[in-house]
Amino acid sequence: MKNAKNSPTTRYCYHCRVHHPVEEMKLLVTKTGSRWRCVKSIEAVKRSKDERDQYGRQVSAANQSEASSRARILNKIQSER
Ligand SMILES: [Zn+2]
Repeated sequence: MKNAKNSPTTRYCYHCRVHHPVEEMKLLVTKTGSRWRCVKSIEAVKRSKDERDQYGRQVSAANQSEASSRARILNKIQSER
């Protein structure tokens, strides 16, 4: 393994708090200055948000169908009485 270069090839990722290869890093400019963050963490946040949105929709749809079928059953029981 030969990894002796003069210029640093890694950047400190403020999100993961570790160093990543600079090719995987993105420089974000904020009010307090510029920060390096890896593309992976940015993508992961984006993906997990999409998954959360999708999951939320599935859950609310399931809840709705469950609630309506429960209401039907209740109505049936009450009308049979
Ligand atoms: Zn990172």
